[in-house]
Amino acid sequence: MDAAIIAVGSEMLTPQRVDTNSLFLTELLNARGVEVVFKVVVGDDRHQLVDAIHYALSHARLLILSGGLGPTEDDLTREAVASYCGRSLVFNEEICASIAQRFQRMNRAMAEVNKRQAYVVEGAEVIPNARGTAPGMWVEHEGSHIVMLPGPPYELKAMFESQCLPRLDQLLPAQVIRARFYRVAGMPESDLDQLIAPVYRQYTNPATTILAAAGDIQIHLRAHCHTEGEAEALLREVGTPIEELLGDRLYSRNGNPLEVTVGELLRGRGMKVAVAESCTGGMLAERLTSVAGSSDYFAGGFLTYSYEAKTALLGIDPELLREHKAVSEPVARAMACAALARSPASLAVSITGVAGPGQGGETEPVGAVYIGVADKDGCLVRRFQFAGDRHRIRVLATQTALDMIRRRLMGNGDSPWHH
Ligand code: ATP
Repeated sequence: MDAAIIAVGSEMLTPQRVDTNSLFLTELLNARGVEVVFKVVVGDDRHQLVDAIHYALSHARLLILSGGLGPTEDDLTREAVASYCGRSLVFNEEICASIAQRFQRMNRAMAEVNKRQAYVVEGAEVIPNARGTAPGMWVEHEGSHIVMLPGPPYELKAMFESQCLPRLDQLLPAQVIRARFYRVAGMPESDLDQLIAPVYRQYTNPATTILAAAGDIQIHLRAHCHTEGEAEALLREVGTPIEELLGDRLYSRNGNPLEVTVGELLRGRGMKVAVAESCTGGMLAERLTSVAGSSDYFAGGFLTYSYEAKTALLGIDPELLREHKAVSEPVARAMACAALARSPASLAVSITGVAGPGQGGETEPVGAVYIGVADKDGCLVRRFQFAGDRHRIRVLATQTALDMIRRRLMGNGDSPWHH
């Protein structure tokens, strides 16, 4: 079954709001083998809404509308669906009483406008809303299913999970869905696609989706089968050659981010890491410590943004800084070695670079970043030239630093490993 989603509400068309409901719905629908083939955000305009419903239902048998079920004149979802189906809106005493009770519990009088929320599309099944006043509705119309849910995510999520999914499961053919989530670091999306497309293009099942972010690519394989055994066999058939092609660039087989993989490697080896950060301003430490339990392997860090801090906190020789500037191989090396010496860590990583948009007095161009990794065997420093805005450069720097740690821990850090 294919699905369409319409997010309703003029505020969702402003730069201050993002339609996150459709992402939530899509994830749960995909997990059941339902593909979302169309989604759109429509303002509070009855004609546009009816047009969008027509279009959506000419491409999908399941339509989910979020929002526009409030009590005011501009909440038009009920009216638009009723008009599309050629049905009337019927006042429902029970819903009105439960909305009135809700207000009573909050010691408030129910306003007259709230009665609008007690109108339901003729023939609709009501979906109770335990977290708000607007009930949802499920309408069957000419072989299609139209589901209306309120916009606030806190309400929509609970209603969809507890009441819509069980209804949906009854409609869907019995099938098993199994997925694999691979993640790859340090590879441009086009290179990755060129490498693995010859494998996954041979199959429509499992379906393959590639999602690219800065320095991080996710590959999702989703198999729909009659039995779990069939699904797992298909995933193996497609996944194994993909894993071989990706080799050590593959850092996760279960969708975990790089900081989790690095944390598991550190914990497994009983090691602790320390960081010395300049242009990333603590972003690497933030990523490492965003993982619960990271105190097992994160020793601490030095946030040395200025030249003075590099000298005061890490003891970097001012002469070295004057001669080479902060964004340089010798300074990255000195930072990593000092972080190792001045912390209880057995591995230290340094990042110094030009995040831009200005050069900040450095001689290196915007996007130049030196990353150093030091341990008892020595220190490796690499220079990278990243492209993009300030945020992207900083994300790429932390992603690359984590990947250098990962490679070092797996024993395949780049050589030569300088002493
Ligand atoms: P209410 O009774 O609260 O008015 P409603 O069904 O009319 O419910 P809206 O008024 O459309 O819902 O939205 C209420 C709030 O919910 C919005 O201001 C917004 O913050 C959030 N919201 C609405 N739609 C979405 C969406 N698609 N994704 C994320 N948040 C949303």
